[in-house]
Amino acid sequence: MDKTKRYHELVDLVRRYNYEYYTLDNPTVSDADYDKLYDELVSLEQELGIVDPDSPTNKVGDTTLAGFKKHTHKVRLYSLDKCRDYSALASWMEKMKSAGAKNFCLEYKFDGLRITCTYKGGKLVNAATRGNGLVGEDVTAQVRNISSVPKTIGYKGELIVQGEAMITLSNLASYNASHPDEPMKNARNAAAGAIRNIDPTEAGRRNLDIFFYDVAYIDKPLETQCQYHEFLIDNGFHVDEFFYHSSDIDSILSEVKNIDSRRNNLDILIDGAVIKVDDIDLRSTIGYTAKFPKWAMAFKFEAVEKTATLENIVWQIGRTGKITPIGEISPTELAGAIVRRATLNNIGDIRRKDLKIGSKIFVRRSNEVIPEILGVAEHFPSSREIVPPTKCPCCGTTLIEDGANLFCPNKKCSNRIVDSLTHFASRNAMNIEGVSTKTIEALHEKYGLNTVADIYKITYDDLLELFSPKDRRKEAVKVANISRSIEASKNVGLNNFIFALGIDGIGEKTAKDLANKYHTLEALMQADYDSIIAIDEIGDILASNIVEYFRNPDNIKMIDEMKRSGVKVADYSAVSTENEYFTGKTVVLTGTLSGYTRDQATAILESLGAHVSGSVSKKTDYVLAGVEAGSKLSRAHELGVTVIDEETFNKYIGK
Ligand code: NAD
Repeated sequence: MDKTKRYHELVDLVRRYNYEYYTLDNPTVSDADYDKLYDELVSLEQELGIVDPDSPTNKVGDTTLAGFKKHTHKVRLYSLDKCRDYSALASWMEKMKSAGAKNFCLEYKFDGLRITCTYKGGKLVNAATRGNGLVGEDVTAQVRNISSVPKTIGYKGELIVQGEAMITLSNLASYNASHPDEPMKNARNAAAGAIRNIDPTEAGRRNLDIFFYDVAYIDKPLETQCQYHEFLIDNGFHVDEFFYHSSDIDSILSEVKNIDSRRNNLDILIDGAVIKVDDIDLRSTIGYTAKFPKWAMAFKFEAVEKTATLENIVWQIGRTGKITPIGEISPTELAGAIVRRATLNNIGDIRRKDLKIGSKIFVRRSNEVIPEILGVAEHFPSSREIVPPTKCPCCGTTLIEDGANLFCPNKKCSNRIVDSLTHFASRNAMNIEGVSTKTIEALHEKYGLNTVADIYKITYDDLLELFSPKDRRKEAVKVANISRSIEASKNVGLNNFIFALGIDGIGEKTAKDLANKYHTLEALMQADYDSIIAIDEIGDILASNIVEYFRNPDNIKMIDEMKRSGVKVADYSAVSTENEYFTGKTVVLTGTLSGYTRDQATAILESLGAHVSGSVSKKTDYVLAGVEAGSKLSRAHELGVTVIDEETFNKYIGK
């Protein structure tokens, strides 16, 4: 295509996307796709040597929403220049060093909505969105409803602070759980939609927060960003616990890498890291372009959210009979992998998200292995309604709709049995090594296993007969190993056994909580609803599931059968051994250990009565640091927390 024509097409397209994103808070493309088009626009401008007066490359944000009072910013607000590779970031820092920069600050690039708050005489007098950088929307009433934003502060002069309105991912999950009919597409839209809501109380209802990170104006300026960081904390602003500064380029680069590796475990959405020159006077000397400061650089991480086409839905039957829809999507590169399938919770999820075959959807890959479909980006005239099945795709039984879920009620449905056996044999359940789903399918087909207890009736000869006579010699060792591990699994810890039963909604953590409270299987089986629901984090549905499970005669019979086959469930004592170093102590893990995975080290510490926490605070007793330890290690040094290495850990646990 003619390049000039493409250029004008891109100007129009990016302007449309800007309007949808900034003004309507309703994007129809992912940030990754937007960034690609934006970069193409920038390179065409360079190549053709033209800049359309309406080009988005010259403008910050977009128009403000009608219905809001306009607020003219005292100090102009900018966008951020961006880079995506470490060498570009290093060259930029070298350039800043040549311009006189001695120290750099590193912060998260929060993915929310920029807000400025103005204080006079110690009182919050205004809050505004960024808008186009010169004029924003007055959202004072909305921001007043955010409980963490201080309404009065110690500093009595004139002050304009900047922060990002955000909703934590846990608050978003609770909001969506309690508003099943109108779930939020993602955290950014949830935050932006609450702030730019004519009803000012919505921001409070959604439990919004503002993470402050900078001072845009102050009548008595300080000298460095580090000083402003302390100033914000001293005046009661909510500042994220991560803030790093260093004069060393390599240290900054390695810290950015650390952020990238942990970003999916954070409770907030970040899309990068921001590196800024620390010296405030020097910032004015270095200056600005029409769109961004030259003294700051955003390092953008690879996107975990993209748009794709929903091509089909397949229906999977799990061990409880629940039917889970899996979306087949157009192949999409997400966080380094090509993704073709994405999960949906249930049929209710499909209806709430208004999904249709052939529509453009947002898909996100976080720490879960299977990506998730967040919602619709765009429907097309050719989009088709999703018709849920009425019969079980495995056994043909008529499905039952219960709340948002579809169920296959047939307990003998092959898919249900195979899935419950696969779960039962898995590592953190009965840990029957060598038993794959394929082996279970073969066993089920040949011997008609009906419940998990039937696995203990399988003999060495039964296993051997799964193979054709000519293969039996070759497979004898493998079969002997499986047979041995079935035998070995008969001695099992209470928490593993509870998890292995596959009670609906019981994950490893709840299984451990139950084991911790009841100590013996018999006590758990007798426990009533009131006693179970008293456990923290166990709600009504889970408590009812547990009680129902152990009142069901079929399940009692199955557990008895297992006992008769020799299964011995060991009583649980949370602290298996007292340890002079770790019992009763709070420990934080960081970096990679050579001899243990995180889960293994956590299990050892917990068995010694330690509490393993995710973040370092003054209450932390030890930080166990492996190689490439990141900000938790710096934080431990800052707070004077004892840091131990793997060798000391081994010594302390008596290894
Ligand atoms: P930006 O990416 O240029 O970054 C500037 C913004 O970052 C600031 O306004 C501030 O709100 C925020 N920020 C977060 N943490 C910060 C920190 N520690 N220090 C300073 N600022 C911090 O923002 P932009 O110009 O508003 O938007 C550009 C990006 O927005 C694009 O790259 C794209 O990802 C997204 N976008 C998406 C669409 C879409 O349709 N999907 C449309 C427009 C823009």
